[in-house]
Amino acid sequence: MAAEIQPKALTRKPVLLSKVEGSQDVVSMAAIVPKEDGVISVSEDRTVRVWLKRESGQYWPSIYHAMPSPCSCMSFNPETRRLSVGLDNGSISKYVYIIVVMMILFVLEMEWVLSTGQDKQFTWHCSESGQRLGGYRTSAGACGLQFDVETRHVFIGDHSGQVTILKLEQENCSLVTTFKGHTGGVTALCWDPVQRVLFSGSSDHSIIMWDIGGRKGTAIELQGHNDKVQCLSYAPHTRQLISCGADGGIVIWNMDVERQETPEWLDSDSCQKCDQPFFWNFKQMWDSKKIGLRQHHCRKCGKAVCGKCSSKRSSIPLMGFEFEVRVCDSCHESITDEERAPTATFHDSKHNIVHVHFDATRGWLLTSGTDKIIKVRLRRLL
Ligand SMILES: [Zn+2]
Ligand SMILES: [Zn+2]
Repeated sequence: MAAEIQPKALTRKPVLLSKVEGSQDVVSMAAIVPKEDGVISVSEDRTVRVWLKRESGQYWPSIYHAMPSPCSCMSFNPETRRLSVGLDNGSISKYVYIIVVMMILFVLEMEWVLSTGQDKQFTWHCSESGQRLGGYRTSAGACGLQFDVETRHVFIGDHSGQVTILKLEQENCSLVTTFKGHTGGVTALCWDPVQRVLFSGSSDHSIIMWDIGGRKGTAIELQGHNDKVQCLSYAPHTRQLISCGADGGIVIWNMDVERQETPEWLDSDSCQKCDQPFFWNFKQMWDSKKIGLRQHHCRKCGKAVCGKCSSKRSSIPLMGFEFEVRVCDSCHESITDEERAPTATFHDSKHNIVHVHFDATRGWLLTSGTDKIIKVRLRRLL
């Protein structure tokens, strides 16, 4: 039997501070306005709203701006207070950039607005003149977009499951590399410019941490969702990754621990523990008069084993397996209780999250759901 370990309370449970209700349709994206009790949201109901907290504690829309078509995304820069909004029709206005976009990113340092469209085009515009500077065609529509200001690399995660890395110049770009690791489409990207780590969330339920700064090609998997990963947010100073799933689950990952890569699965014609043949190994089955067995793999050592030699399950949090997975009997014995201690905390947002925003200065976690509600939670970070 697997040892029953109670998840250690690493952090306190998020407390629901407020609900922002009143949108006529799903809020595609929203952000907390720093230093003010405010929330900006863009919605499929064609509105841009700034909600300010009243004395009653309720959020009321104090600015309401109707757009010509549903808003799919936004990028808000707190320093310049410039808001760029992506719509599903096209044209550019003075303070609001309107492009056919799925993702949008405003880069203050370069005066660039980066965007990806349903037409598989990645484009960048000058944020001052609105002029289109360049473009690149990705292999599929892209939902993830991140930028490294220091090296001018852009990361684009698309529906085919790959992440494209481009180096941007003022008016041209070059392909650096592509990351392939997900079996489903990439739904979200998050970049930590300090540790130089890229996180990609996918509809395959997993998150991959691509360690670029480590220069060893390490890619670490994080398995903590039972449904599509929809959005990611990162708190660099505490090294916590926040991921949200289609099932409403919020997982807060402690990335300040030494994590391990999962092993390659080994190939064998017989169990690498008890030497019984696998079912396609007719010769050994005949010679030893034994019935062929099904092949399984231990998630910890990667060995090909039979069911009898891998009857136990364990979580392996440092390998990213927060849920119990198949391990061989000897690995099961070798995993200590300490190694089974969770490295993430799990919370139920009680809505299907489409967007998450984390304000690290106040510990506010904002989620927007398909229920048309924005929830703001207090999450004190330790
Ligand atoms: Zn066996
Ligand atoms: Zn093993």
